[in-house]
Amino acid sequence: MSEETKSLNFIEHIIEEDIQNGFSPENIRFRFPPEPNGYLHIGHAKSICLNFGLGLNYNAPVNLRFDDTNPAKEEQEYVDSIKEDIKWLGFEWDKECYSSDYFQQLYDWAVLLIKNGKAYVDSQSSEEMAEQKGTPTTVGTNSPYRDRSVEENLDLFERMKNGEFEAGTHVLRAKIDMSSPNMLMRDPLMYRILFKEHHRTGNDWCLYPMYDWTHGESDYVEAISHSICTLEFLPHRELYEWFLDNIYEAPKVKPKQREFARLNLNYTVMSKRKLAQLVDNNVVSGWDDPRMPTISGLRRKGYTPAAIRKFADTVGVAKRDNIIDVALLEFCIREDLNKKAPRVMAVLNPVKLIITNYPEGQEEWLDAENNPEDEHAGSRKVPFSRELYIEREDFKEEANRKFFRLKLGGEVRLKNAYIIKAEDVVKDENGEILEIHCTYDPLSKSGSGTEESMRKVKGTLHWVSTKHALEAEVRLYDRLFLDEAPDSHKDKSFMEFINPDSLKVITGYVEPSLKGVKELDHFQFQRLGYFNIDKDSTKEKLVFNKTVGLRDTWAKVKNK
Ligand code: ATP
Ligand code: MG
Repeated sequence: MSEETKSLNFIEHIIEEDIQNGFSPENIRFRFPPEPNGYLHIGHAKSICLNFGLGLNYNAPVNLRFDDTNPAKEEQEYVDSIKEDIKWLGFEWDKECYSSDYFQQLYDWAVLLIKNGKAYVDSQSSEEMAEQKGTPTTVGTNSPYRDRSVEENLDLFERMKNGEFEAGTHVLRAKIDMSSPNMLMRDPLMYRILFKEHHRTGNDWCLYPMYDWTHGESDYVEAISHSICTLEFLPHRELYEWFLDNIYEAPKVKPKQREFARLNLNYTVMSKRKLAQLVDNNVVSGWDDPRMPTISGLRRKGYTPAAIRKFADTVGVAKRDNIIDVALLEFCIREDLNKKAPRVMAVLNPVKLIITNYPEGQEEWLDAENNPEDEHAGSRKVPFSRELYIEREDFKEEANRKFFRLKLGGEVRLKNAYIIKAEDVVKDENGEILEIHCTYDPLSKSGSGTEESMRKVKGTLHWVSTKHALEAEVRLYDRLFLDEAPDSHKDKSFMEFINPDSLKVITGYVEPSLKGVKELDHFQFQRLGYFNIDKDSTKEKLVFNKTVGLRDTWAKVKNK
């Protein structure tokens, strides 16, 4: 282990025990096995960080294995996005593998099982087979085809492969035990006929292997020592081992399946099937919509690989199912961006502020620190002039002593600039404030060293100069679901809990130093939150996403 001091998780304990019992550390090998039927989500990120993290700790290779046995739902687009996401998270796989590369080997092993009397062709309908399955408390019934001769099975199986039969007419089943207390051991399906084009093997096959048969044998082909999956596969372990026992040849590495609790987040749905529904029904703009819990959505929203890795690490590896508060994910990105994101000034709900004693036409370029959390971040210049925007919420004509922002007759400091005093307002016919008129103290310039510049006033406001500011589209996000567990309702679909106000698009004004920024660049808009540049941004029009707020306001609301 690279970090002796770090306490081991239970998977690492299992590996350590294996090593102590004589398993050679050189033979340790892991894999991450996504099915390319959708984009990866934060749950997958958890699994990626676990598997690739183990690879780093044990200096062991980690394969990327596409579990592509279902031609109906799998596409190259998903393969590409999965590779991009893993790389972006900062991990490198050893071999890029596909279960479909093992179709011939799997077929040959299936023939071996038939020859050994361990598999048979069943020619009943799926309804008939389901009826014979029994229940957890009652035993199943043997299929009338269970005792077909090896010759007949071999002949039928070959003809299934050759496309002589229609889909649904025959299947290959393992011959295990129709009275097993584990329902999965009651003669599970190994193959079904499907006349579908596969994204890699085209029309070579019309016979496709089932997940359980494929997964363990693929692990075996790749000599994966520890095959780590999520808890729902625990009952599959017995079958995983049964399949391996029937083809295993010593002294090869015999893979070991071990299970950990999947990541669940509140206010989030996380199955690819459900995420696909959100995309297909145009609830979101695509798999990478910033409201999606996909890795591509989080990336677009401004999340960093470091924050996601930190999150996975903080969540840890659990043996029991649990639900993590999405506020933890937000905490991790806030922590990371606090160190990295340059501070800039932006006004999102503007009202005009005019400094009546500042000469018309004059402008000054003032020093502004880029990041107080990072001494190497340096400083930049921001333009100051007679006419500024400040946030509408930062001004009240009258307010009590607890209001530390601007009120008539009161003073505040304009960040990086001067102390101003509000004197008057101009309103429209509805009483809406159009302009705030102020005076400034010319001697109070920030950093000028004068006595006035050190004078303490209660509030500091951010601002932009109206003449110099860049107009920008700003996309503000709220949770996509209003319910804490949107997919846990028996009588209601998760689609009924969609927050109609999860996206708000506004026009804001940002300081001119933001000209020329690139996609994914992130910033702290001072006093407002963390924002990044969206891919829709162009030279003519900046588009920002709000990544996360500055403070954990969510936790406060919840604890009320
Ligand atoms: P989904 O239900 O979202 O479709 P899946 O399990 O079918 O997920 P796969 O592509 O088969 O998706 O998963 C690849 C790997 O990621 C598997 O090892 C799986 O156990 C793991 N994984 C999937 N979801 C989670 C999760 N929420 N937390 C941790 N690991 C996960
Ligand atoms: Mg799956």
